[in-house]
Amino acid sequence: MVQSFEIAVFEGDGIGPEITAPTIRILEALTNGQDDYQLAFTMAPAGAALYAATGEALPSASMETARRADAILLAAMGLPSVRYKDGTEISPQLDLRIELDLFAGVRPVRVVPGQPTPLKLSGGQTIDFVLIRESTEGLFHSKGKGEVTRDEARETLLITRKTSEKLFRFAFDYAEQRKALGTGKGRVTCVDKANVFRAFAFFREIFDSVARDYSQLTADHAYVDATALWMVEKPWLFDVMVTENMFGDILSDLGAGIMGGLGLAPSADIGHKHAVFQPCHGSAPDIAGKGLANPFAMILSAAMMLDWLGTKHNIEQMISDGALLRDAVYKVVANGSVLTRDLGGTSSTETAADAVLEEITAKA
Ligand code: ATP
Ligand code: MG
Repeated sequence: MVQSFEIAVFEGDGIGPEITAPTIRILEALTNGQDDYQLAFTMAPAGAALYAATGEALPSASMETARRADAILLAAMGLPSVRYKDGTEISPQLDLRIELDLFAGVRPVRVVPGQPTPLKLSGGQTIDFVLIRESTEGLFHSKGKGEVTRDEARETLLITRKTSEKLFRFAFDYAEQRKALGTGKGRVTCVDKANVFRAFAFFREIFDSVARDYSQLTADHAYVDATALWMVEKPWLFDVMVTENMFGDILSDLGAGIMGGLGLAPSADIGHKHAVFQPCHGSAPDIAGKGLANPFAMILSAAMMLDWLGTKHNIEQMISDGALLRDAVYKVVANGSVLTRDLGGTSSTETAADAVLEEITAKA
């Protein structure tokens, strides 16, 4: 029986539409003639340009599409020139995170041989770990509501047992899946600052109690400062790392740096019911409309979507298609002859996407 899944597509602003079109084209090629599953795409208008035109950044019809869909694919939203009346940037992706309770931010960091990276790797060495960032509380809890007087400013760090338990279970389940797929080491590291803050000692205690339910996996801890050092000195040690919101924010940019920039950094924001898959980069208005955008982070995000849907619905073909898509992107990167400008090449968005498509069809 063919299972069909509805994908809500937020192409958004700037380079969003340019990287969305080839990604959908690739997904359609991948599922063409398939009898295990099919994908149906529904476009969901939202973002800064829409706000400028209509006064609405996230129309309720688009929110409904997102809620109803089996998964959400999002390119980029927001433009520096368009702001809400209070002066903040248009960011419907943050509204989605809260509305759909997407508590786990998943940020894979992967460097394959041949990929440009500022780190020195000895021949054939691969970096492959995943950062899981709590996305609804932590040091972002008082975002925009901090207390500021002339002489003092205070923000709140909030760690709750409920969210932390959900987060840690998610991280351990994720590590278990990676191990089963042969891509992980079966290891989860809690990244905190438990030596200084009581809130982080509490965080770590909850981690340890959840870890007891996963005796087949290795659980350990690292302080966030040491983690930053090790991510540069010996990143191959890590498998799954799980951390608080602000630490995760900072470490994921470090991760993007290790990968040689934002062009290869995919992400997922996952909850119990819903999930959004999107590249880590923004709408890049400086290069929009010129055919220069790197589509790889978006394509890798689509691969994560296939992993997630396939695992959730137990569809082997979908899981192996996710791996096929990811491998195809890394093949093209390692080969080095078709790269966009941000990766040191001269190829256009379309040419780069075509190279991935060729890799896939060569395999099929
Ligand atoms: P946001 O606040 O939405 O995250 P940002 O200010 O971090 O946005 P980006 O839009 O991510 O900025 O762009 C940062 C820089 O990286 C820009 O110079 C942009 O052109 C470049 N860039 C971002 N994404 C891509 C891409 N897919 N391909 C090529 N260059 C990119
Ligand atoms: Mg940014």
